[in-house]
Amino acid sequence: MKLFNSMSNRIEEFVPKKPHEVSMYVCGPTVYNHAHIGNARPIIVFDTLRRYFEYLGYSVKYVSNYTDVDDKIITKAMEENVSEEEIASRFIDAYQRVRDELNTKPLASTPRVTETMDDIIAFIQALINVDMAYESDGDVYFKVAQSENYGQLSNQKVDDLMVGARIDDHHGKESPIDFTLWKKTDVGIQWLSPWGMGRPGWHTECVVMIKKEFEGSMIDIHGGGMDLKFPHHENEIAQSMALYHHPIAQLWMHNGMLNIDGEKMSKSLGNVLWAKDVLAQLGGDIVRWMMMSAHYRAPLNINEETIEQAKTELSRIRAALKQAYLKLALVKYDIPSTVNRDILTKFSSAMDDDLNTPNAIKEVFDSVKQLNQLLRVKEADLLAIGQWVVAIETMMDIFGVKIERLRLSEEDVRLYDLWNEAKSMKDFALADQYRSELTNRGIL
Ligand SMILES: [Zn+2]
Repeated sequence: MKLFNSMSNRIEEFVPKKPHEVSMYVCGPTVYNHAHIGNARPIIVFDTLRRYFEYLGYSVKYVSNYTDVDDKIITKAMEENVSEEEIASRFIDAYQRVRDELNTKPLASTPRVTETMDDIIAFIQALINVDMAYESDGDVYFKVAQSENYGQLSNQKVDDLMVGARIDDHHGKESPIDFTLWKKTDVGIQWLSPWGMGRPGWHTECVVMIKKEFEGSMIDIHGGGMDLKFPHHENEIAQSMALYHHPIAQLWMHNGMLNIDGEKMSKSLGNVLWAKDVLAQLGGDIVRWMMMSAHYRAPLNINEETIEQAKTELSRIRAALKQAYLKLALVKYDIPSTVNRDILTKFSSAMDDDLNTPNAIKEVFDSVKQLNQLLRVKEADLLAIGQWVVAIETMMDIFGVKIERLRLSEEDVRLYDLWNEAKSMKDFALADQYRSELTNRGIL
């Protein structure tokens, strides 16, 4: 499989460090509010990648964190006069519901900053010990200019960053581009550290969590939204280089941003664009399908048309499958229990090509076309129908879209036979009766 590595700016052959295993970490949300629909994109992209790895036979360890210490959480807690923990738990639960509604597979673990504090403090101290960080009046900063290859991921030079840095950012820092590892505070949730009371900066937690959650020196894939590339991921790399002399992950993946066409969206969704509300209106399948219609690195526009298109496409796929289920059930033909991978090679080639889901979707439609053709033949090739059914189900499962098989009861089969009999006798009134009964049962 080939994947684009943001670090090298090239598409590379993906070779996991351990054969048959993939270690993957994706930066999670800061839990001070509900997730915006844009936050659903990395959830979907990396869950699909994980599902595809599993299809290829890898066992995947996928970890994503919760940032439960942040100024925004503290502000919200003070506004509502509740604890930071209460705010964080509320929005962690809400985020988990969004993940569930998007039909994502469970994560291996979801570390939180508040549960990792001792390790974070020890890590910052270790950076001070190797002279890559310094304390200044209770704050601790990272020495960016001293960092090996700083700017490699985001393609920037330290000198250029210096030119762009704001002078008023300077107070207490040796250099305006140094970033905060520890922040002195007397407001809100705080911890005792060797530098006094305070709380950690955002960039340290992921490095520490990766080290804690995964064995070995480097993980295979570190992912996140394009907006995290700089400064967050660049700073993660700088800290890892400073202590471990490697960039913490072999491959860096970044998904493109989601653009909402506000005006065109307003008709169906209004102005509210929390993921939970979009999901309540459209359901997880449509949201997933819509997001997979563009390549993960490209920006994606969603508007009324993309929503309608996703709805139409999914119902076309479901209609073909339903017809096939009906055909096979009526002759009591068992759907094969395993997928014939030979008929999925074009789909795999698309997915192997840096997760090219738009091309993979074309293969889904090609399969639907094959299935529809087989269904039109009088002497049906039941094995071929069964194989295409499983192939389509497999692809949909990789996309995380739920497909429910149609199962017929004996009564369903009896009614279906009676309907056909009435039609052949040209008793159209009776045929209509059976037809509406079958429709009510969700079979026609
Ligand atoms: Zn992170």
